[in-house]
Amino acid sequence: MNRILVINAGSSSIKYQLIEPETGERFASGLVERIGEPEGRIAHRGAHQNERSLPVPDHTAAFEAMVAAFAGEGAPIDALGIVAVGHRVVQGGDAFVEPTLIDDEVAERILSLGALAPLHNPGQYQAVAAARSLFPDVPHVAVFDTAFHQTMPERAYTYAIDRSAAAEHGVRRYGFHGISHQVVSRRAADLLGRPVDELRQIVLHLGNGASACAVDRGRSVDTSMGLTPLEGLVMGSRSGDIDPGALLHLLRGGYGADDLDRLLNGRSGLLGLTGVGDFRDVRAAADAGDEAARLAIEVYAHRIRHYLGAYLAVLGGADAIVFTAGVGENSAALRAEVCAGLEWFGIRLDAERNGSAERGARRIGADDSRVEILVVPTDEEAEIARQTHRLVG
Ligand code: ADP
Repeated sequence: MNRILVINAGSSSIKYQLIEPETGERFASGLVERIGEPEGRIAHRGAHQNERSLPVPDHTAAFEAMVAAFAGEGAPIDALGIVAVGHRVVQGGDAFVEPTLIDDEVAERILSLGALAPLHNPGQYQAVAAARSLFPDVPHVAVFDTAFHQTMPERAYTYAIDRSAAAEHGVRRYGFHGISHQVVSRRAADLLGRPVDELRQIVLHLGNGASACAVDRGRSVDTSMGLTPLEGLVMGSRSGDIDPGALLHLLRGGYGADDLDRLLNGRSGLLGLTGVGDFRDVRAAADAGDEAARLAIEVYAHRIRHYLGAYLAVLGGADAIVFTAGVGENSAALRAEVCAGLEWFGIRLDAERNGSAERGARRIGADDSRVEILVVPTDEEAEIARQTHRLVG
């Protein structure tokens, strides 16, 4: 039994999965949420499913709730075969280019990178600290969302602003969703039966957060998210690209920094354009004749096509376009809208394959499509388990 406990923490929640790293098989998963509120909640799925409310004052209490949930189904934590804990960390800056064994110094650096990812790294640091003190006898590994993009060339990650200001504040493009882009591009190559280092791929991760990535022979060479996960595609509640001049205009119009943060991260994207942030709801509204919803989907698809065109140029053509995450895996209509009219580029969808109810990794391009078009489910937790296992042996 060699199992990895995978932790995906936020400031007020912890998601966990117990995974066999070589097969990706799940033994248990759960969510502890509302950490720090008067009443928290755990939903655990293992041998049994159980949900309950309980006080969860901090991340340590969250892990204790997880341990109790395992014990409650007759699986004491010591008997689970956990050989390492893999922690997802959103921002690794330019210091972390690969999965890293966590010691005190690494933990402190994760915390200090919170200046660049205030919504993510502080909570992840707290989870790392709590997990290390509760499970001191196994190695803890940090797997970074930014690491996969550290192969981007300077010309792709550099913003054209004053160099000293950029250097002083660490302002450059880092990119996110790297764990997903990495596992999806590798699985896409497996599906095609070709080595990943022979392929130019454009991966479209379309979930609540969304990003595009140009993957050249297994290495990220460009991606749509930047210094923060706000740049690029239209998302559930995030704006994606916007003229920085618009922010100056709003600042001069009375917005403060926190107002802008709430506007761009929380009241923009599909939610801002329609009042609902879930793609299914937007589609249903559009189908029912709602004009704002119709426009939102057009803006959403237009932005994806904008990056698709850009990355065809960056890569000098593509061997595969790969759709993943909630919208990418499930919305045949959106995939058709993205690929419409791109025959000149050798991109031709097969309507029947695209519309099929099949799940799992699959080809949806026409036989005469020069570019393969694929749907490949993402699995970030399995990838974290795999990378953790590779590091600790
Ligand atoms: P997260 O970024 O939170 O992991 P997901 O990858 O689960 O997000 O994606 C969530 C998005 O996927 C939501 O906008 C949801 O509406 C959309 N989605 C899920 N299922 C479908 C579906 N069958 N058709 C269209 N969109 C879907």
